[in-house]
Amino acid sequence: MPEKILAELPPGAKCTRCRAHPTIRLPSHHANLCTECFLHYFRTAVRRAMKKFPLPADTPLLVAVSGGKDSLAVWEVLHELGYTTKGLHINLGIDAFSADSVQAVKEFAQKRSLSFAEYSLKDIAGHSVPEIRRRTRRKICSVCGLLKRQLLNRLTIREGFRALVVGHNLDDEAGRLLGNLVRHRTQYLEKQYPFLPSSHPRLPAKLKPLFRLENHEIQTFCRLKGILPIQTKCPLSHGATSHTFKEALDFLENNMPGTKRDFLFSYVNRRSPPESTHPFGTCTQCGEPAYSDLCSVCNVLKHLDRERGGE
Ligand code: AMP
Ligand code: ZN
Repeated sequence: MPEKILAELPPGAKCTRCRAHPTIRLPSHHANLCTECFLHYFRTAVRRAMKKFPLPADTPLLVAVSGGKDSLAVWEVLHELGYTTKGLHINLGIDAFSADSVQAVKEFAQKRSLSFAEYSLKDIAGHSVPEIRRRTRRKICSVCGLLKRQLLNRLTIREGFRALVVGHNLDDEAGRLLGNLVRHRTQYLEKQYPFLPSSHPRLPAKLKPLFRLENHEIQTFCRLKGILPIQTKCPLSHGATSHTFKEALDFLENNMPGTKRDFLFSYVNRRSPPESTHPFGTCTQCGEPAYSDLCSVCNVLKHLDRERGGE
């Protein structure tokens, strides 16, 4: 809450950068910033992230926008920094939640004269998320996540782009790193990097330009810029283990400000972008890149039909 941030500022504090009256406290940086310096800090964090990615500076970017704060904030900054961007939204068909999500994206784009493409999961995959939920015994969040990831890749290429931007932030990435380390998932750890190169002519490079910015910083940015993201959470998500890892890091952060950044950056900074070496095959069903005979999308859809058939 902004009011809380203001209240926590020590009396007589000055902006760490310009000595003006500060409005925002950044405990992990041991800094207090005025609004202008905060916006400068925020843009610089995105610019630094983009510089780190091995991608020509004039690459057009397709921004995956859910209607949440992260993806709208990243779209705003990339646009401000002069990148050529277009939005991409997948309507998941989750009643009011999806209707509100589309509305948030539409309002954002209209105000800035930015264009975005909207696709419906039902049209592309034949089922909305609630329908899939009724037809599978698997956790809906993991099925939905898998479909979103794969379809965002495909739609990026279909839209004529080679680079996909997603809104994952420092908290998301640090939580994921902790989860992968706890479970010693070497295969995922190798891919734990804010940039993934294209590993197939039909797969885009994937960028996470917000990986240096924390949840609360993104909230503040949206408030300052008048960005109105959806406020509700997906009604189908509950008790994801990723939340618990994030909470564990929040505990450490509260006791030792800066720990979350140290944890993620000490890992990421020692690594270079993963190599694109996977020898992909082709899905026999849909012709998209696949590790085996069937791609993961066709595999999910096949099992849905089977489970439905068994009812
Ligand atoms: P999530 O996995 O829901 O936390 O979302 C992570 C990122 O995926 C978001 O920041 C967006 O960039 C993207 N994303 C999630 N849902 C959608 C959607 N329905 N349409 C387009 N992009 C999405
Ligand atoms: Zn397929």
